[in-house]
Amino acid sequence: MQDLVAELRTALPEGAVLTDPDLLKVHQRDEADLVPAGMPAVVVRPRTTEQVVAVVKAAARAGVPVVPQGARTGLAGAANAVEGAVVLSTVAMDAIVEIDAVNRFAVVQPGVVNATLAGAVAAKGLRYPPDPGSWESSTIGGNVATNAGGMCCVKYGVTGEYVLGLEVVLASGEVLRTGRRTAKGVAGYDLTRLFVGSEGTLGVITEITVGLRPAADSSLTLIAVFPTTTAAGKAVAAISSGGFSPSLLELLDQTHLRAIEALRPMGLPTDAKAMLLAAVDTGSRAADDLAAIEAVCTAAGASEVFAATDAVEAAELLRARRLAHPAMEKFAAETYPEGSGGIIVDDIAVPRSALAAMLDGIEKISVEYDLPIAVVGHAGDGNLHPNIVVDRLDPASVERGRGAFDEIMRLGLSMGGTCTGEHGVGLLKRDWLAHEVGPVGMAVHRAIKAALDPNDLLNPGKVV
Ligand SMILES: Cc1cc2nc3c(=O)[nH]c(=O)nc-3n(C[C@H](O)[C@H](O)[C@H](O)COP(=O)(O)OP(=O)(O)OC[C@H]3O[C@@H](n4cnc5c(N)ncnc54)[C@H](O)[C@@H]3O)c2cc1C
Repeated sequence: MQDLVAELRTALPEGAVLTDPDLLKVHQRDEADLVPAGMPAVVVRPRTTEQVVAVVKAAARAGVPVVPQGARTGLAGAANAVEGAVVLSTVAMDAIVEIDAVNRFAVVQPGVVNATLAGAVAAKGLRYPPDPGSWESSTIGGNVATNAGGMCCVKYGVTGEYVLGLEVVLASGEVLRTGRRTAKGVAGYDLTRLFVGSEGTLGVITEITVGLRPAADSSLTLIAVFPTTTAAGKAVAAISSGGFSPSLLELLDQTHLRAIEALRPMGLPTDAKAMLLAAVDTGSRAADDLAAIEAVCTAAGASEVFAATDAVEAAELLRARRLAHPAMEKFAAETYPEGSGGIIVDDIAVPRSALAAMLDGIEKISVEYDLPIAVVGHAGDGNLHPNIVVDRLDPASVERGRGAFDEIMRLGLSMGGTCTGEHGVGLLKRDWLAHEVGPVGMAVHRAIKAALDPNDLLNPGKVV
């Protein structure tokens, strides 16, 4: 290992090779709670593709695994270090290489933070829509490698729909360029798509070309308050079948409303069992569309519906939604003595028509396993995050939490859902990927992995 570290120090700029034990510890894991992680031997922060090539080749010669990391906001343990690995952090690869307003694309290095790109293209009257809740910290590389979703995906689609092309350093150290800079293009297999969502297991993404859209029209926002989560689920199905196309359709249950209000008081309806946050950006039709969505919510059982009075209030509501994860972490810690509460964050997507039944099922699982399970989600996509609150100091509680997690997975798949709507497989969902795609699907996954990374050195143990 000392030889490898020395070789890395020669290949990389000063300060780009970290072996300080505190820094190694910081880079051990992503945001997924209660998921195992090893201790890396070294962390590197290359700045260029050539430097990434040097790292991958040196690690391959030494037979040491490489774990790519972005901002480590992942929620599936996919960025967790493997014991003794080289962690390849892309945070120093943070250049916006090009913004082409005519052809509506941007070229970025992988470490560019989502909000930084969104801001830079907005300054040119353009828009990069994918907006995960972590947009102020997560990187475009991480977003691509997890095919991240977000709030506006209900109307504008997930990260993968914006990736036009990639530069990828393969396990061999060769540099692959995929995709195009043109509006259309169908040459060859869709290799770009293969790397989208590959969670660092097939190559290190070193440059990304993303498609851009014109700036969106301003939006109008409402909240609808429901006496049950299932009523909120039914409202989502009714909004969808009514032919509406909201630009935001998010669900927060009572536990989340209370946790967010405790973290940052802003007058949320904490007596409600569930709240839907909806927005429309349909220009001159927006007011009519919002009124129609209000009527649908009322017909589905909403006890109250409030329209945001102005853009500031709408932004505050969106900000509240973005606080769901830190608020739940605080809530979970305080649920058990000594602050020992943790969350098993789940991520399931079901057909929108099954959303109400899924929400009902989660409530039953919460009772059956005697654990709080709070639900937040991108309801318009049928994508729910049941947060299972456990006492990390009590093995029986953690065991029940894992049981509840499996039960939720089973239920979601039985409804025609998928085991992960956006967080990815990582370490958390490996068993469930096999359930979902079956033996032939797994064989194809493994064949692709073996073809691109025959020595299993890129993020081993994740996904497949
Ligand atoms: C508060 C909060 C809110 C969130 N909201 C959302 C949400 O709305 N939607 C959503 O989808 N997710 C959400 N997430 C999860 C997370 O932010 C996303 O998965 C995000 O895309 C991860 O980006 P990252 O830069 O942190 O990547 P990391 O967590 O560092 O890495 C994620 C995966 O990508 C791989 N990777 C990273 N960079 C590269 C690269 N250059 N080449 C190859 N592989 C790479 C890693 O190996 C790992 O497998 C949220 C997380 C938090 C903490």
